[in-house]
This record gives sequence, structure tokens and C-alpha cells, in this order.
Amino acid sequence: MHRRRFLLDLSVCTLALAELPGARRVTWRPRFVADPFSLGIASGDPLPDGVVLWTRLAPDPLAEDGFGGLTDERIAVAWEVADDEAFTKVVRRGVAQATRELAYSVHVEVDGLAPDRWYHYRFTAGDARSPIGRTRTAPARTAAITPLHFAFVSCQHFEQGLYTAYEHLANERLDLIAHLGDYIYEGAGVDARVRRHDGAEITTLRDYRRRYAQYKQDPALQRAHAMCPWTVTWDDHEVDNNYAGDSSERRDPVDGFLARRAAGYQAWYEHQPVRVPRPTRWSDLAIHRTISWGPLARFWVLDTRQYRTDQACGDGRKPRCAEMDAPDRTLLGSAQERWLADGLAASDARWQVLAQQVMVAPFVATVQEQPVMSMDQWSGYPVAQRRFVETIGAHAPGRAVVITGDIHANWANDLRVDFERPDTPVVATEFVGTSISSGGNGSDGFTGARADALRAQNPHIHWHNARRGYVHCTVDGDAWQSRYRTVPFVDRPGAPVETAATFRVEHGRPGVVRG
Ligand code: FE
Ligand code: CA
Repeated sequence: MHRRRFLLDLSVCTLALAELPGARRVTWRPRFVADPFSLGIASGDPLPDGVVLWTRLAPDPLAEDGFGGLTDERIAVAWEVADDEAFTKVVRRGVAQATRELAYSVHVEVDGLAPDRWYHYRFTAGDARSPIGRTRTAPARTAAITPLHFAFVSCQHFEQGLYTAYEHLANERLDLIAHLGDYIYEGAGVDARVRRHDGAEITTLRDYRRRYAQYKQDPALQRAHAMCPWTVTWDDHEVDNNYAGDSSERRDPVDGFLARRAAGYQAWYEHQPVRVPRPTRWSDLAIHRTISWGPLARFWVLDTRQYRTDQACGDGRKPRCAEMDAPDRTLLGSAQERWLADGLAASDARWQVLAQQVMVAPFVATVQEQPVMSMDQWSGYPVAQRRFVETIGAHAPGRAVVITGDIHANWANDLRVDFERPDTPVVATEFVGTSISSGGNGSDGFTGARADALRAQNPHIHWHNARRGYVHCTVDGDAWQSRYRTVPFVDRPGAPVETAATFRVEHGRPGVVRG
């Protein structure tokens, strides 16, 4: 054995043996048939002194058993964080275990870093070395306010479009990316689309792992992950379309659906750079959490799926119905609602950012001469919707912005406690971001009589557009600016990016302003 190699291995062994009782079953020098970093690398959930680093080893990403072509029990994966891209100034390093139990994914919670600083990171397993990622820490709580540049994205149906929006996103200057859900879609492969899901509708842990592996191979998505830290939440399609709590779309028996939900939740954890507590049961994975950006902003990353009451009146777009107004209906669940209200009351961050899934502002349309609205969005839970806006109004009036995904369209909305009374005060602003690819090429939104009807029935909605893209936000102490970046098509490569509209919110003056 080459002497230098031996010494390197020995130091790795010593490090890991100290922290791991079952170290005998660790594969120290794995041999891979192909690049094990086929799913890329990522970082996320930054703190002032640390960040989560992620990868998942998968030399054969779509292997039938969902284990990415590996059979070992545990594989040693070395990680490094450096000041420079050449890794001459490594500031933190260690060895993590990629275990079969978690499909050879790795989550490293790095600490001991300096606040408000950029770093480079990489992984090494056997002879294989990962690409280099850039990541950063959040500013310290006591730091002076500096601007934050972040983007939010959602809904990346693999079959319905290319990830051209991510190619443009990767050219932006960004400190953070927030993903608001529908990272994968659960449906079976359909022919004659832009790309094709591998296999049938996904229901088991094996299936979800393979679906993530298919999505994660996209090079534009990998580049966007490698450029800065993300914070990720989920929506329905990470498990099942429009599921609500323990109720599936097709009202499957609860036990069976909870097993499916556990598979979806575990696979989500295995594939995202998230800092969430390990659950006792995967069907109950609590993911709501906060990300603090110094004194400037606090992100409240919410979960409106796991704890919600089933959709009223059979879901879909419906006229008002009695069931909607039942006072115990909830989207966040009482524990998360209390956590949010107490947290907002105690936080002195300049901006409160509510990162969540479904549109808060109602969108009323007339169908067969009846006003209808979505039963899956906050509009289908009007008592909870009012409580949510009241909570924001009580604790963060004029300094809260809701960022929303799910609906595959762009909207800029004022949030008021009573949407049916336009004379009541606006307490917050909602920016709804379109999909990366879901829904295909899209359109420029309503025109003519439909646009007039939209305005007449929804005075709180200032703008709507249904192209694909992302929302780029610049936040400082005085103002928030959202730039809606869109691409004209996703059914073929090469779409340019343009700014479809720009909106501002002045601190202390809630409501949408153009420009
Ligand atoms: Fe979606
Ligand atoms: Ca959705």
C-alpha cells in the first residue's frame, strides 16, 4: 500500500472511530462503478456560525431497489469547508457516514464558521471527489443591517418543462434560495411530454427515492443548489396531489396513506439540505422552522399540508359553502399556529418573511354565473385565513411579506383582514411566485373581459401573469423589491429571461407598489 494513502486512511479512521461505535461496518475505501456524486451537492438552512451540507451517493441513480447502486452498510464520506476555491485554506473538515438506512445521503451540520461569510465545500468518497459548492453563513443577530438578495421558486414538474429558469437563476447574485414545494411530482410517466417520469405513480420509499434521483440529475438544478444555501419546504406533490393531513387525494384508508406519507417525508429528508429534528416516525416529520438573517429578516418556513383539515365541499373550485366556515378548520394546525404567533410576537427582525405554499389572498372567479374559489388554498379555510392575517397584523403590521408557491402563476397581492371589505386596512403583502416548469409554457395572463372581471372581483390583486420563472427579491432596511423573472417557453432549450414586472414594499407601509 502506498504510504501516503495509508496515512490518509488512518487519519480518517481515527476520526470516525472516535465518534462511532459500529465503525467496523464502515466501508472506508469504497469502489464505485461510476461517479457517486451523480445527484450533485447542496447546502441549506444557514446559521450565523454554520450551514447544512448535503449529498447522496448514487453511482447508479435509478437502480431498481432505490439504493443508487450501492450495497454497503455505511460508507465514509469526507467533507471540507474552505475559504478559497482551491481548498488551500480549509477551515473545517470531518468524516460523515452515508448509511443504507438513509439511502446513502449525507447531512453535515457544520458549525464553527464566521458569520456573514462565503465558503466553498466539497465531499470525497474513496477515489471520487464531488463538485465544489459555494455556501455562506447568515449575518450575526447583532450585526449592522446589510441587504439580502434571495430568490424563491416552486413547482418543478420534470415532464412538463425544462429547468431553463434555473439556468438563469444560477447567473443571479443570490445569498439564499427558498423552495416552496412541489420539488417532485408523484405521477406516473406520461408519453409525448418534454421529459418522462420513470415508472408508475410513486407510493413506496423505493419509488420516492428513485423519483428524487431522476429530478436531482438535472444539471441546471444541480448548479442552482451549488451556488448558495437553500431553505426548502414541501407542498402536496412530495407525497400526493392535494392531500390534507392523513387524507389522500382519493381518500385511501388512513393507515395505508400514512405509510405512503412516511415514505414521501423520509425521501424528502434524504434529498434536501435541511436542519430538522429526526422524527420518531417518518410519517410525523416536523419541518416548520425559522431562518434568521441578522437583524434584517426572519424567515418562517411553514407547513400547510401535514396538519390541515381536509378540503371543504369536495375540493376543487367551488362556490361558498357552509362547511368552509366551520371554526375548527385549519391549514397550519393549532401547534404551528401558536408557534408562529408567539414567535412573531417575540421577534424584532425588521422584516418577517412567511415562506409557505398556497395563496393567502382569495382569487374569486365567476363560473356559470357563480363566484367560485379554490378549496385547496387559504380561501377554502376562511376562518384560518382571517386568523393568519390577524396574527400578522397584530405582531408585524407593515413589516411582513408572505411568499407563496403552488399555483403555477405570478401574483402580487395586498393582504387585509377582511378581503370582502376593500376599505379595511392592508396589513401585509403577498408575492406569489410561478412554477419553474409545471404547466408548460404558460401565458401572459388574463386579457380583455377576463382581466376586467379579475380586477372587479379581486381588488386586492394588483398583478397576475402565468409564465414560468422565479422571483428575485432584494431586501434592505427600508424597502423590499420583488422582480418577477420569466421565461417565454420551457418546451425546448434556450429561452431567454426577462423581468415581467417589479414591485416594491416600503417598510412600515404594507401593500404593493409598482416599480
Ligand atoms: Fe405544483
Ligand atoms: Ca401544490
